[in-house]
Amino acid sequence: MNDLIDLRSDTVTRPTPAMRRAMAEAEVGDDVYGEDPTVNCLERRAAEIFGKEAALFVPTGTMGNTIAIKIHTHHGQEVICDARAHILDWELSMTAWFSGCLVRTIESPDGILRWDRIRRCLRPAGPNNAPTALIEIENTHNMAGGTVYPIEIIREICAETHHLGLKVHMDGARVFNASVACGLPVHEIARDVDSVMFCLSKGLGAPAGSMVVGTKEAIALGRSYRKRLGGGMRQAGVLAAAGLIALQEMPARLHEDHTNARFLADSLASISGLNVTPPQTNIVIFDVGGTGHAAPDISRRLKERGVLINPVNTPGTTMRAVTHYDAPRAACEHAVEVILSVLH
Ligand SMILES: *Cc1c(COP(=O)(O)O)cnc(C)c1O
Repeated sequence: MNDLIDLRSDTVTRPTPAMRRAMAEAEVGDDVYGEDPTVNCLERRAAEIFGKEAALFVPTGTMGNTIAIKIHTHHGQEVICDARAHILDWELSMTAWFSGCLVRTIESPDGILRWDRIRRCLRPAGPNNAPTALIEIENTHNMAGGTVYPIEIIREICAETHHLGLKVHMDGARVFNASVACGLPVHEIARDVDSVMFCLSKGLGAPAGSMVVGTKEAIALGRSYRKRLGGGMRQAGVLAAAGLIALQEMPARLHEDHTNARFLADSLASISGLNVTPPQTNIVIFDVGGTGHAAPDISRRLKERGVLINPVNTPGTTMRAVTHYDAPRAACEHAVEVILSVLH
C-alpha cells in the first residue's frame, strides 16, 4: 500500500504519529452522556475557531450535512444547491431520505452559486409550491475542482436569504482549504451562515470525524438527530484526540497541498492532449479527451504502475487528482513521470 501514490482523494491520509500518540493517551468517557472530556474539548475548540456558539462531533461529513439539513428544514420543503453538490450526488439522497426535502439545483461552471440565480429558484409557500427552506453552498466545491467562494458572494447570499427568513448551510468539508486560498480565517467565512459542516478526516489528516457548528439551539437539536442516525458514539474521545490535532495543527500545512496541486496542474498542462483546469486549492481536474483515451482506461493503466487517480465519470474523459499530506512533492513529481510514460 505504501508504495502506491494515491491521488484519489485527501480522505486517504493516515493519522500522523502525533495523532496516534494522542489517541492512545486520550482521556475518555461516555459521550452519549456528554461525559467524554476529549470530545467536549474538541467541540468547544471547533465552536471557538468558527466563532459559533456550539459544535457537534459526528462520524462522517455525510452525517454532518444530513443533520444540518434536518435542523433547518421540515418535510415537504425545498433545498437549493449547486447541480454538482456533494449532498446531491454523493450522499445517497439523504436530503430526501431523512429530511423529506427536494433539492432544486442551479447549474454553474465553477460550483459557486450567485444570489441572482438563487433568487429565481426560490419558491414561496403557496397552493402549488413546496416552499424553499434552505440554501446550501459547498466551499470548497469538490467536483468543480476545489473552487472557493469569494467572501462577498457568501455575504450577499446570507444577507438576502436571511432577509426572507430562510437559512444557509455551508458544506465546508474543505473549508480550511478555502481559508488558506482566500486568506481569511474560518470564522470570517462562517460568520453569516447558519451552520457549517467541516471534515477532520480529509486534508486535516484525522482518521475519522467531522464537525457541525452553529447556534446552541441548532446543535442541541442536531445532537438528537445524530443519535437517531446511529451516530451516538461512546468513548469517542479516542477519535476526538486525533481531531484536536487535525483542527489545531494541520491547517497550517494545507498551503503545501495547494502548491503541489499547482505543480501537478502546470506539469500536466504541458503534456499534449491534456486540458487542465487551474486549481484554486488541492483538487486538480483535467480532461484527457485529446489523448484519444477514456479516463477509466488511463486510470487503470496508471494503477498498474502504482499511481491512483480516479476518473470523474464513467464513461468520460475527465479525471480528478487530489493532493494531500501523504502525497508530498516527490510523489507528485513521480506521478507526473508515470502519467507521461502511460500516455506516450
Ligand atoms: C467528503 C465530502 C463530504 C463528506 O464526506 P464523508 O465521506 O461522509 O465524510 C461532504 N461534502 C463534500 C464536499 C465532501 O467532499
